[in-house]
Amino acid sequence: MTAHRLICDIQGLQLFQLPVLTDNYIYILHDRPSHQTVVIDPAEAEPVIEFLETRGWTVDAIWNTHHHGDHVGGNRILQEKYACAIYGSEFDKDRIPGITQTVKDQDEFLLGTWRVDVMETPGHTLGHCVYHIPAADILFCGDTLFALGCGRLFEGTADQMWNSLAKIRSLPGTTRVCCAHEYTLSNARYAQSLPSYALGLLNYIAELQSLRSRGVPTVPTQLAAEIAYNPFLQADQTPMREAIGLASNPAAQVFAWLRTGKDSFKG
Ligand code: ZN
Ligand code: FE
Repeated sequence: MTAHRLICDIQGLQLFQLPVLTDNYIYILHDRPSHQTVVIDPAEAEPVIEFLETRGWTVDAIWNTHHHGDHVGGNRILQEKYACAIYGSEFDKDRIPGITQTVKDQDEFLLGTWRVDVMETPGHTLGHCVYHIPAADILFCGDTLFALGCGRLFEGTADQMWNSLAKIRSLPGTTRVCCAHEYTLSNARYAQSLPSYALGLLNYIAELQSLRSRGVPTVPTQLAAEIAYNPFLQADQTPMREAIGLASNPAAQVFAWLRTGKDSFKG
């Protein structure tokens, strides 16, 4: 049985996390009142099926953040087995396997009585989108924001990614940031290599290291912690800009500098 855990239960909305492949997380939402189950970015199908069968649940919908194989790998098998709907961005309608529901920025839909907001967050890919449940303080952000990090720019520009991260940053600080990967310790090494920009960063890193040393996932993190410590969210903040000597550059340029630095960082 794949190790999984219940992250929270908010008025019957249960959020589970399944670690799969090398460092991916699949999230599963089960809304007890409506008895609906949603799988977010199923990298593979088998661990999901195994998890659901012990509970007698089926899949009503898959929500995909983007088209990469480690996010959609389980789509076809789950859809064949459960005939579930598959949500993904309009932009990705030809590259998300089995997509049945296209979504775009500011779309809303319901899971039981919970309102789900869609935000387009291009940068990692051009079709990347995130799913936010405001009343439950849950955000599925795929490969846009990570604990102390952010996704690589495979398709989008630094401008696009910076705007996407700034959109996410505007959500409430209490938001649970459900990232699709456990990249935290590598991100922490990069954050620590930058000239000092945030008080308390080292304490935060020590907390994360302690979780990992016990095999506990470091995500979801709280958005407030990311706002305080994630270097990629600091591109328009004076302490970071002064620390790296780019105080008069546009935020997107500062972000590009930080992202390029991480791409070549060996640590
Ligand atoms: Zn990806
Ligand atoms: Fe990924």
